[in-house]
Amino acid sequence: MDVYGLIGNPVGHSLSPPMHEAGYETLGLDARYVTFEPNADAAAAAIEGGADLGVAGLNVTVPFKRDALGAVDPDPLAERIGAVNTVDYGPVHEGEADRPRGHNTDAAGVTRALEHHGVTVDGRDALVVGAGGAGRAAAFALADAGAAVHVANRTVERAVELAAAVPGATGGGLDELDDRVAAADLLVNATSVGMEAPAETPVPADHLHEDLAVLDAVYAPAETRLLREAAAAGATAVGGAWMLLYQGVEAFEVWTGESAPVEAMNAALRAELT
Ligand code: NAP
Repeated sequence: MDVYGLIGNPVGHSLSPPMHEAGYETLGLDARYVTFEPNADAAAAAIEGGADLGVAGLNVTVPFKRDALGAVDPDPLAERIGAVNTVDYGPVHEGEADRPRGHNTDAAGVTRALEHHGVTVDGRDALVVGAGGAGRAAAFALADAGAAVHVANRTVERAVELAAAVPGATGGGLDELDDRVAAADLLVNATSVGMEAPAETPVPADHLHEDLAVLDAVYAPAETRLLREAAAAGATAVGGAWMLLYQGVEAFEVWTGESAPVEAMNAALRAELT
């Protein structure tokens, strides 16, 4: 049996176990997906040594995504993003370093979620609100897919620093958000605003418009105030569960080499969401 899992702290309410196990069951794979919640000072060693415990692959979540970078051999995208959310302990191929391979599938989570909803990224003006882990993944993913990216963040320096690393991007604060929203084709909320707080939104509704596609990385609640207001403005509204699904689908495919059963994984995820 192959053992996969999620390492983070806390991980008690993670939706990843049922999502991945639905995938294994659908494909008839003999595998389980479990959770690990180490102390902060033990996390890097646990990630680096996962193979010693017979683990085949790990997802990494808050607060260990940056620690994981130093514990693995990161691929170029994970290195640029500065965070690893998927570790592969599978056989080392010729030319690879003899360390677990690190990936960042949050980036594909953003682009595949948008693609699923028929949203074109290439050539569009994208506004990423937030410059933490999700914001970094979104900014690189959208720029690599051909968008012109502006990063807006509460802490302006973080936005400016991220924008300097992302090809063609600009960065600034939240003060000019209205104009940026009005001019954007794509908007990604990569802040935690709205998480478990249905009355809060990171973006004022006034400038949301019907030519906009909005992806809210927040997935709990499944329908945030931002998504409701985006839909009311006629925008395409894409919930964070789609990003969660596709980062998991991408990890599943890295680990198993199989095409993931997206519908079964999505159904299992939706069954857990409110
Ligand atoms: P993070 O690294 O801690 O970054 C948090 C971001 O939110 C920062 O940009 C922070 O701004 C901003 N922020 C926090 N409180 C704010 C407030 N009151 N007003 C304005 N900005 C605020 O967290 P993360 O890992 O990027 O996660 C961000 C969100 O994305 C979370 O809700 C997480 O659950 C979600 N997420 C979803 C997926 C998915 O698959 N759907 C994947 C990853 C993350 P400062 O820099 O100023 O502090």
